[in-house]
Amino acid sequence: MGQRLEALNEHLTRVIDLRRATSVLDWDQEVYMPEEGAEPRSQAQATLTTMAHEIFTSDTTRSLLEAAEAEVADLDFDSNEASTVRVARRHFDQETKLPTAFVTRESKAISRSFMAWRKAREADNFSAFEPHLREVVELQTEKASYLGYTDHPYDALLQQFEPGMTTAQIETLFGDLKAGLVPLVKEIAARPSVDDSFLSLPYDTQKQWDFTLLLLRGIGYDFRRGRQDRAAHPFTTQFGNTDVRVTTRTHETMPQSAIFSTVHEGGHALYELGSPDKFERTLLAGGSTLGLHESQSRLWENQVARSLPFWHYYYPILQAFFPQQLGNVSMTTFHRAINKVEPSLIRVEADEVTYNLHIFVRFELEKSLLTGELKVSEVPEAWNARYKEYLGITPPSDADGCLQDVHWSHGILGYFPTYTLGNLMSAQIYARALQEIPGLEEGYSRGECAPLLNWLREHIHKHGSKFTGPELMQREFGTQISAQPLLAYLRAKYSELYDL
Ligand code: ZN
Repeated sequence: MGQRLEALNEHLTRVIDLRRATSVLDWDQEVYMPEEGAEPRSQAQATLTTMAHEIFTSDTTRSLLEAAEAEVADLDFDSNEASTVRVARRHFDQETKLPTAFVTRESKAISRSFMAWRKAREADNFSAFEPHLREVVELQTEKASYLGYTDHPYDALLQQFEPGMTTAQIETLFGDLKAGLVPLVKEIAARPSVDDSFLSLPYDTQKQWDFTLLLLRGIGYDFRRGRQDRAAHPFTTQFGNTDVRVTTRTHETMPQSAIFSTVHEGGHALYELGSPDKFERTLLAGGSTLGLHESQSRLWENQVARSLPFWHYYYPILQAFFPQQLGNVSMTTFHRAINKVEPSLIRVEADEVTYNLHIFVRFELEKSLLTGELKVSEVPEAWNARYKEYLGITPPSDADGCLQDVHWSHGILGYFPTYTLGNLMSAQIYARALQEIPGLEEGYSRGECAPLLNWLREHIHKHGSKFTGPELMQREFGTQISAQPLLAYLRAKYSELYDL
C-alpha cells in the first residue's frame, strides 16, 4: 500500500472508531437502556456523530483523499487500494454535498414529522401528518438537487442507499417482476386456503428463544463473536468482524415471527462476520450496499429456512420443544403453514410472494411525489388504488395503509427498492449456489449449512464493501441483476405447494 493511501486510512480510523462507539450506544438504547435514559443518550450520540462527521468532511480528509486518488490512479479498479479510495470518495461526496444549514433544517423537520406521524397513525388521521409529509417531500426534492442527478430526482436519493442503480433500471426490473407476480398471486388466491391455525396457539416464549439460539448455531453464527438479545424491531449491528450482534422478538401466539426474524438477522450477521480481517478498520470492512445485505438475510430466511429439507432436520427438534402444539401436526402441514401466501395490508408481515408488491406501491408513489405528478393530499387515494390493483385488497384505514411505515416520517425516500433488490439478488445468488454445491439441499436435512456459508464467504462476503450490487453480480456471476431467477424460484416452489 502506498504511503498516501496509508495516511488516508490511518486518518479515517478515527471516524470508524467513533462510528463504532455510536453503534454500541444505539444498540444499548434499543436493547437495555432504561425508559428514562433517552436524553443523555441522545446528547452523547449527537456529540459522537458530529465529531465523526467533522473529521470525515474536514479539509484534511479532502487533501488526503486527493493525494491518495493520484497515487492509485493507475491501479486496477478491483484492487483493494483503488476500491478503498473509490468508496471513500463516494462517502465523502455524499457527506459534503449537503450544506450544513440544510442538514440542520432537515433534522429538525424530521423530528417534528416523526412525532406527528406516530400520533397520526395512532389516530388514523392522515391529514395530521399531511403538512409534515409535504415538508419531507420538499426537503427531499431539495436534497436531490444538492446531491445531483441527470435523469430523475429519485436517482439522487436512491444513490444514498443503492449506489450503482438507477431509477430507470429499477423501473425495468420491477416491471418484469410485477408481470410475473400479479398473475401468480391471483392463481394462488384461487386455491383453497392453507390451515395455519396451530401457529396461533400459545407457545412458551422462553422455549421459542432457546429454539432461536439453536437455529443461529445451526446456520453457523459464532457466539464467541456475537450475541442475541431482544428488541421490539429486530436488527443487527456490528463493531468490527469480531463482534456482530443480532436481536429478535418473540410473540407468544406467533412462533414463526421469532424463527424467521432470527434467521433473517442471522443472515445479515453472517455477512458481517465474513468480512475479511484485512479490511478491518477501513472503509471496505463489513457488508456492502443495503440491497446486497438484504440478499444475504433473505437468502437464509426464505430460500433456506422456509425450505422443506431444512425442516427435515429442525422440525422434530421444534416438535420436541412444543409437543402439545405440534405433536400431531405433520411436517408438510407445518411447511405449508410457514409458506402461506395471503395478500395482506401490512408490508412487514407479508409472505415472500406478495412482499414485493408492497414495495412497488411505495416506489411508484415516491417517484411521482418527487416530480410533483402526485400531490401529498392524494397519497391515501393513490395508495389504496394500487393495493386494489396489485393485491386485490383495499385498506380499511390509513393506519393500515399509507401511514404504516416509519420511513417517510424519517425523511427517507429512495430506500424501499433496496428490499426488492435484495430479494432479486438472493434468488440469483441461490440459484448459482444450487448449481455449484452438490447435494446442497439434501445437506440441510442433516443440519448441514456450512457448505452454503463457505460458498457465500467465497463469493460474496470476502469482498467486504468493495463493490456495489451490480459490480459484484458482474464479477462473481457474470450477470446483471434480473427478475427471472426470483420469478422462477417462486413459480416452482408455490406451484408445488398450491398445486397450481
Ligand atoms: Zn434485513
